Amino acid sequence: MKQEISGYTRLAGVIANPIKHSLSPMIHNYGYQQTGVDAVYLAFEVERQDFLQTLETVKLFNMLGVNISMPYKKQAYDACDTVSEVAALIGNVNTIVQKKGQLIGCNTDGLGFIESLKEKDVSIEGKSLMILGAGGAARAIICQCALLGTKEINVFKRKNETYKQQEIELQEIARKTQAMIVLHDFNDDGKRNQVIEKSDIIVNATQLGMGKDDRMPFDDFSKVTKQHVLVDLIYHPLETRWLKKANDKGIKTINGLGMLVHQGALAFNLMTQKDLPVKSLLQDIEQLMEKKKEN
Ligand code: NAP
Repeated sequence: MKQEISGYTRLAGVIANPIKHSLSPMIHNYGYQQTGVDAVYLAFEVERQDFLQTLETVKLFNMLGVNISMPYKKQAYDACDTVSEVAALIGNVNTIVQKKGQLIGCNTDGLGFIESLKEKDVSIEGKSLMILGAGGAARAIICQCALLGTKEINVFKRKNETYKQQEIELQEIARKTQAMIVLHDFNDDGKRNQVIEKSDIIVNATQLGMGKDDRMPFDDFSKVTKQHVLVDLIYHPLETRWLKKANDKGIKTINGLGMLVHQGALAFNLMTQKDLPVKSLLQDIEQLMEKKKEN
């Protein structure tokens, strides 16, 4: 369906810096076309000092809402009038719905992750999850999984200046959700192998392997078996070296494209109350990324 822009057309977008590389405009505009929503979605690269003013514009322009990416997720959380349960637990938002001048904050990253696993017949309920990295994406996944019944979550991060604080924050999330969450040293090879043995799902939530970086979060696969599912949040490339190594051993793997599309679809639904056709979008994006790789 071809969209005609008129005086009735609503505006939505993503606010971040940098943001020009983002696939969000493609995801949402595809959704508007497929579902007949009269709206356009743009990327807004905004300087830190202009961020709060930009949120005021979201209200003034009666926008459907905005997605928020780095580095503004926490600032956006503070500026919202109300926030969802998971956003409150994470302490940041990636989606703001605008209704009658009220900003309603949500975070769809963790649920997007869970939906992308569901699509591949993998459930997180009652499972033991191992997460490599403890940044924004990991935290969203940890909080959502803790709320939705994951049995145990083991997180690995480097023992640097943020380790102690992260440990305190993860303990607080564990206390609030009654989930078992433990932080370990990323470079403790023995502990890593012990945890691999008792895990069902192993997630790379670091940047290791992104783009031209061919490093792996770990390369000792001696304890990784066909009982495991390996998930890499990276979607560029679609198959990182880490995932390739697992694929070569016949281990089930999932890349980050599903999470990207599902978190977008959930945000789309919050802003429009319509369901984005995820399956056809996934195919189109994969083709687009393959084409980009060839060029
Ligand atoms: P982030 O907040 O910057 O966190 C990155 C994490 O990776 C941190 O815990 C950091 O460790 C760790 N890390 C970075 N370099 C490392 C190294 N050399 N060795 C060990 N650990 C290292 O980033 P993020 O937003 O969470 O994103 C993480 C990954 O997920 C990225 O690859 C991103 O592209 C991907 N992602 C995918 C989606 C999706 O929809 N598929 C969504 C969001 C993010 P320290 O804590 O020790 O500094």
